Amino acid sequence: MIPAQFDYVRPTTVDEALAALRDGGDDAKLLAGGQSLLPVLRLRMADPSLIIDLNGIPELKGVREEGDKVVVGSMTTHYDVTRDDTLRQHVALIQEATRTVADPQVRHKGTLGGALAHADPAGDLAAPALALDAEFVIAGPNGTRTVAAADFFEDYFTTAIGEGELLTEIRFPKYTGWGARYEKFNRVAQAWSIVAVAATVKVDGGTISEARIGLTNMAGTPVRARSVESALVGQSATEENVRKAAQAAAEGTSPTADADAGSDYREHLARVLTGRAVLAAAG
Ligand SMILES: Cc1cc2nc3c(=O)[nH]c(=O)nc-3n(C[C@H](O)[C@H](O)[C@H](O)COP(=O)(O)OP(=O)(O)OC[C@H]3O[C@@H](n4cnc5c(N)ncnc54)[C@H](O)[C@@H]3O)c2cc1C
Repeated sequence: MIPAQFDYVRPTTVDEALAALRDGGDDAKLLAGGQSLLPVLRLRMADPSLIIDLNGIPELKGVREEGDKVVVGSMTTHYDVTRDDTLRQHVALIQEATRTVADPQVRHKGTLGGALAHADPAGDLAAPALALDAEFVIAGPNGTRTVAAADFFEDYFTTAIGEGELLTEIRFPKYTGWGARYEKFNRVAQAWSIVAVAATVKVDGGTISEARIGLTNMAGTPVRARSVESALVGQSATEENVRKAAQAAAEGTSPTADADAGSDYREHLARVLTGRAVLAAAG
């Protein structure tokens, strides 16, 4: 279907984008890579009267180090995330997960900020962001604020980004030397996750000293598997220990049942994939 008619602006600074948002009010929509927004427009599930294209704003693109943080501009494409050396060295988990997103075409257009702002529970980047304790920098009419990942994802397709605001940066602490793995279970290659597990662990002399685990599609928002994390700490990274700890992976989740999987099956997948992800991350 062809989208309903809309006006289009392409600001070149964040301030211009915020002014356009203010002028457009409820009827304005931000465009990043368009990989989720355009299908929505074509299905006429939304008919904004103004599209604000963020692709002309250089300050929203790229990766940089800032002390003990790695900062990623919201308009950095999935493709650029997968190729960045700084992320490879310090935040390997987000790269691992981004490699599993869709196909090369989508990864060349889609952006980290667009995916996180969209907050699809089956999207692959929210659970790693939660596990990594990322911070979200949001610009709005009253200036800039920073929101912790634990407070950013509020519900299905709902985040802490308010009216008149836009996501400018995602800030990751450095996890230098940690192992990382994103285990994704999907129906066919390049499809969305039925369930996936994002795991990053620090291993000292064969013992797991720290662990962070996020679950994809086990609730309306990403979920942190905290019971598994604490069960792993202090354990030697053997298959038996890891699989035992992974039995707690579905605690505190509320997976949906749909045509792909029932909720019991999703819980089973969470346990199995957590074991696999942690073992792989621990090397
Ligand atoms: C065929 C196909 C397969 C896919 N498979 C996967 C997959 O396996 N895993 C996965 O994770 N994703 C998948 N995706 C989605 C992909 O990751 C998209 O890139 C992502 O969901 C949206 O990012 P985008 O940059 O295209 O955002 P857009 O589609 O442009 O925007 C998405 C939403 O976020 C809002 N938005 C965008 N940027 C900002 C911002 N800076 N501040 C505030 N709001 C903003 C927009 O207004 C819109 O509501 C797939 C997409 C397609 C088309």
